[in-house]
Amino acid sequence: MNPCDPAFLETLGARLAPDTLRAVEPRHLSEPRGKFGGGAGAVALPRTAAEVSVIVAACAAARVAIVPLGGGTGLVGGQVMPGLPLLISTERMTGIEVFPAENALVAGAGAILADIQTAARNAGRLFPLSLASEGSVRIGGALSTNAGGLNVLRYGTARDLCLGLQAVLPDGTVWNGLRRLRKDNTGYDLRGLMIGAEGTLGIITAASLKLFPIPARVGTALLAVERPAAALELLGLAEGRLPGMVQAFELISRQGPDFLAQTMPEVRLPLVSDWMVLVELGLPEGLDPVEALEGLFVDAGLEDGLIAMSEAQRQEFWTMRESIPEANRHIGAIASHDVSLPLGLVPEFIARAEVALAGFGLRVNCFGHMGDGNLHYNAFPAEGRSRAEYDAAAITRAVHDLVHDMDGSVSAEHGIGRLKVPDLVRYGDPAKLAAMRAIKRALDPAGIMNPGAVLALE
Ligand SMILES: Cc1cc2nc3c(=O)[nH]c(=O)nc-3n(C[C@H](O)[C@H](O)[C@H](O)COP(=O)(O)OP(=O)(O)OC[C@H]3O[C@@H](n4cnc5c(N)ncnc54)[C@H](O)[C@@H]3O)c2cc1C
Repeated sequence: MNPCDPAFLETLGARLAPDTLRAVEPRHLSEPRGKFGGGAGAVALPRTAAEVSVIVAACAAARVAIVPLGGGTGLVGGQVMPGLPLLISTERMTGIEVFPAENALVAGAGAILADIQTAARNAGRLFPLSLASEGSVRIGGALSTNAGGLNVLRYGTARDLCLGLQAVLPDGTVWNGLRRLRKDNTGYDLRGLMIGAEGTLGIITAASLKLFPIPARVGTALLAVERPAAALELLGLAEGRLPGMVQAFELISRQGPDFLAQTMPEVRLPLVSDWMVLVELGLPEGLDPVEALEGLFVDAGLEDGLIAMSEAQRQEFWTMRESIPEANRHIGAIASHDVSLPLGLVPEFIARAEVALAGFGLRVNCFGHMGDGNLHYNAFPAEGRSRAEYDAAAITRAVHDLVHDMDGSVSAEHGIGRLKVPDLVRYGDPAKLAAMRAIKRALDPAGIMNPGAVLALE
């Protein structure tokens, strides 16, 4: 691979609008957990797919590495690469057009997720992808990582919400698959391949997305449960009684509120218990949210809980849940794990992981999108001890071995990036890995697209 040096930039710059290439700033080279540092010769800020195409074709000809950049919120280091690649930021590709009659929306890859949600809402529709980072995430990044978040239980992941894509392939060709079709069985699913590829197979430049009706009524409760198995029973009860209406089901262990009390006392803790769930229902007109939640509370035999009686109270519940990752950062994790299990095995996983980690002397903050079988299982030093005293790799190995043993995934929603490349090799299905390498070689023979992310350098 050749560096993105001044000579290359001069040749490329001559073919682009004057302000397309810029010097990189620190914000382009950092990632939220501070585990990876990146480098870059410059950042390109194209406005159109045609400009992206010129840039990518020039990089392919000169064998200069490219790192696509969205909002920079990725948690596995996919957006930062050592060396001197060219960053291609989508931040100027922010157009949004809504097609309410089709329940569809078309957005440039750089459109901010929260702006897409707002545009949909202004048209009387819902775009349900929702993450704590949605104020910074760009839709191209969300699709490239197949982001999950809070509403997967009801509406699916970013992949499920995407109808079509426009992307620039690694030789600079523009693939125009930006259709708003619900049915399109015309051969291989290139859209599916680009989603979750983390910038290793091309650059997404625009997407068409599914919209939904806004639920007429929303009901939110924070409920104490005795143990994770009781949370699972509650989920089964809620889904059986209100099929397709449970839109979020978050598990919270006591460690989360304890960390919040310690590091972010400004966050109110409406309820504290060893295990809690934050459940949100989206109901049609005619179903009363408070009645529905009270019915679940009584029939599940629960003893403690709160039902939001106002939007402010609902926001309070969500602020507590969504502030947990920040409290975790203040405490400082030894190792963080974004895992998923077959739903019915979540309580067993929590019990077995406790046993597997018993010898390490840790505090564990286990929380996450339990309705999707997705847990954030994060390990912290015991009170008074430092991270340096622990073998982080051994802790991660113990957690991931158990997840693999139980037929789960070691990356539920954050992707592989640079952080989990060895995990993919260790736990990935060999046939799938071989097919992934063959696809990478076929589409990107020079290996310029985000080298070292997802697949190890060959
Ligand atoms: C506080 C916080 C909460 C979070 N919560 C969640 C959560 O609940 N669920 C979840 O799934 N994730 C979550 N994340 C992780 C992160 O927000 C998501 O992975 C998000 O989808 C990344 O989008 P981005 O635009 O920031 O992408 P970036 O970080 O810029 O990039 C991520 C990857 O995608 C590639 N990429 C970016 N844009 C493109 C493009 N246009 N074409 C091709 N490749 C591209 C990059 O090269 C990189 O490999 C959270 C992160 C934070 C900091």
